[in-house]
Amino acid sequence: MEKINIGISACLLGQTVRFDGGHQHDHYLTDVLGKYFEYHPLCPEVAIGLGVPRSSLRLIANAEGEPQAIMPNTGVNHTEALRQFADRAVPKLPEISGYILKKKSPSCGMERVRIYSDKGMPIANGMGIFAQRLIENCPLLPVEEEGRLFDLRLRENFIKRVYVYAEWQRLVRDGLTYHHLLQFHSRHKLLLIAHHYGNSKLLGKLIANFSPDNLSTVAQEYIALFMQTLKRLPDRRHHGQVLTRIVATINKHLKPEQQKDVSKLIEEYLAGYVSLATPVRMIRHYLTQVGEPYLELQSYLKPYPEELGLMNGV
Ligand code: SF4
Repeated sequence: MEKINIGISACLLGQTVRFDGGHQHDHYLTDVLGKYFEYHPLCPEVAIGLGVPRSSLRLIANAEGEPQAIMPNTGVNHTEALRQFADRAVPKLPEISGYILKKKSPSCGMERVRIYSDKGMPIANGMGIFAQRLIENCPLLPVEEEGRLFDLRLRENFIKRVYVYAEWQRLVRDGLTYHHLLQFHSRHKLLLIAHHYGNSKLLGKLIANFSPDNLSTVAQEYIALFMQTLKRLPDRRHHGQVLTRIVATINKHLKPEQQKDVSKLIEEYLAGYVSLATPVRMIRHYLTQVGEPYLELQSYLKPYPEELGLMNGV
């Protein structure tokens, strides 16, 4: 399968672009996800001419309380240069379906970047200047920090969003039609229900309001709410409800002992004894035998390559 284009902070790939001449090579990103992702690295600080090695930037609040990227030893404010770099560099990348940022960086950090007063006291936490502009400019793009990807639920969620967004981008590239939109909604219906039942209904209503002259508006509203919905992390109870829904459909094809086995695995999942991968694997196994095309197509049961083992952490 074609690799998915992902933007990334260059130091995470091992490029020696950090202020001290080092890197922050993350081997999970390169050795595991690198089999599926084609990375497009950017180092905003080097790109605006700060050089390697360099003094480290700091976020310092101005009189209005807005964080500015200042080089403390020179007092030069690099905020606007970093914003302009985000404005011009990201659109020049091949169409990306996600972005992985380096944590805590005053340029790339996505959250909890220390903000200082002009007296040098830490006063708040915020977002790096490049990261903030990237997220403002690309509100649909799945964006995550490498540090947060150590959390298995956040990792699973980010990669799931990347795969769904890449699928959406393909549909748009190929020329989105109402039929495509319906198919997309149908294929992701259980995924949406797991993430937010109410939003899954709202998204269905949005599609129902379609008329031939408003496809583009409906599609934009639809994908904005869709991507927002996927950011919400489902808990075991939400997954349990979706699994039970699936089992209610396939039970008529199963023998009583098979029904008992599946129900037992769902109970074990709800009790926290097994991960989501266990009941999902068994359901997928039965689905290959019973023929329920609607369920077989559901992304909920296989949102990303199984070899990534992401459901083992959910
Ligand atoms: S965190 Fe961002 S700005 Fe800092 S070295 Fe890495 S890529 Fe460059």
